[in-house]
Amino acid sequence: MQVRRATKIVATLGPASSEPELLAQMIATGVNVVRLNFSHGTAQDHIDRATMVRAAAQRVGREVAIMADLQGPKIRVGKFAAGKVMLEAGQPFVLDAARAEPGDLSGVGLDYKELPRDVKSGDVLLLNDGLIVLTVDRVLGDAVYTTVTIGGELSNNKGINKQGGGLTAPALTAKDMEDIKTAMGLGADYVAVSFPKNATDMEMARQLCSVAAAGSGHRPGLIAKIERAEAIPQLEAILRVSDGIMVARGDLAVEVGNAAVPALQKKMIRMAREMDKVVITATQMMESMITNPVPTRAEVSDVANAVLDGTDAVMLSAETAAGKYPLETVRAMAEICAAAEAAEEPRKDSDFMDRQFRRIDQAIAIGALFTAHHLGAKAIVAMTESGSTALWMSRHRIHIPIYALTPKVATQRKMALFRNVRPLLMDTSADRDTALEQAENHLRMRNIVQSGDVYAITCGEPMGQPGGSNMLKICQVE
Ligand code: PGA
Ligand code: MN
Repeated sequence: MQVRRATKIVATLGPASSEPELLAQMIATGVNVVRLNFSHGTAQDHIDRATMVRAAAQRVGREVAIMADLQGPKIRVGKFAAGKVMLEAGQPFVLDAARAEPGDLSGVGLDYKELPRDVKSGDVLLLNDGLIVLTVDRVLGDAVYTTVTIGGELSNNKGINKQGGGLTAPALTAKDMEDIKTAMGLGADYVAVSFPKNATDMEMARQLCSVAAAGSGHRPGLIAKIERAEAIPQLEAILRVSDGIMVARGDLAVEVGNAAVPALQKKMIRMAREMDKVVITATQMMESMITNPVPTRAEVSDVANAVLDGTDAVMLSAETAAGKYPLETVRAMAEICAAAEAAEEPRKDSDFMDRQFRRIDQAIAIGALFTAHHLGAKAIVAMTESGSTALWMSRHRIHIPIYALTPKVATQRKMALFRNVRPLLMDTSADRDTALEQAENHLRMRNIVQSGDVYAITCGEPMGQPGGSNMLKICQVE
């Protein structure tokens, strides 16, 4: 049994979640979006998983969105002769772009050859998500000479970040360009771009998606993962050209420092919502559940606080991709979201009153919220082709559920990420009165409304055109 919940759950697939039966259970328990992590696995792995997701979703009777998460220019050390080394504080260690032989205790090669040009003496490099810290002493040619500040075990292909940011690697690598083709081929509803520095990186990704999907006309939503220090001052420009952002706390924390992240999370969520974009809060949300069947109190609070901040979705990474308790994690997360939402103080109308609308469809969306709020309506219903009416409605805090009826399965899947939106498939091609009648039948059949209930419904006339909501009707069920 699923608890009533407005916040969506993104779950990363991996070896721990690639059985059809388990996947179906995860969807039934609350997964709304699955994330295919292109940092791991082959193109065929992702294609197979996508096929399995579609089949599982159909079996459960609930559409989910597929998000293809590109690897991006993750900067990594090379391999070690022994697979790993144990670094001690105070010892020298050389990162050498020219080194061909496997690494040892004196140093290791680099897959990112530009690193020596991006760093200078005094810079701090963080390896393995910040668990190991190196201070740069000097750069000679292709070799970066460092001293270990915080030691630890360093194994093959661990990531490198520079404190404060400033690595020049472009956001889209040759591998990403190939992966975009795979993602478009498997019909990904969202593409997440890793390490974008600015709006141009996102525009580039958009173009690559359009070219790759030229035959099908498929248009994925683009999510900018905010995980570089340089992206923070560019946030508004990045948001403008993206459909949403991810608060990618893993890499972001390494670049800007852990302590700066909670405030940035709040700011990013607020900005995204104000700009009518979606936002996902990610990384280590239920980390201890990789190995434990219950979360820590701090994790419970973290998920609840992201919900209270207004995030559309909370994300699971290794918890569902490689953890021991994928299903338990989804269940626990769903319960935390529902409890946080129930505790949330409903905001008053000033939320909608303070804003300026110039578009008719936007005014209709807000008019529906305003009216439904005052009348204590049971439901807000949007008949939508593109999903934009449902998106606008969902950018404001209201405790009344929004049902988005769409004839397009691609729109239905995309809306799976929107907070407080329940996307349903319905043919809206009939004339207006028939469509309204069908919509009410749909709601009654699902016990969403009953005799005497009031609901607000929006549609566009003529029916069947995207972006054209121009009608709001308040109905009382007979
Ligand atoms: P990743 O991105 O899991 O792909 O690294 C999320 C993050 O950095 O938080
Ligand atoms: Mn990352």
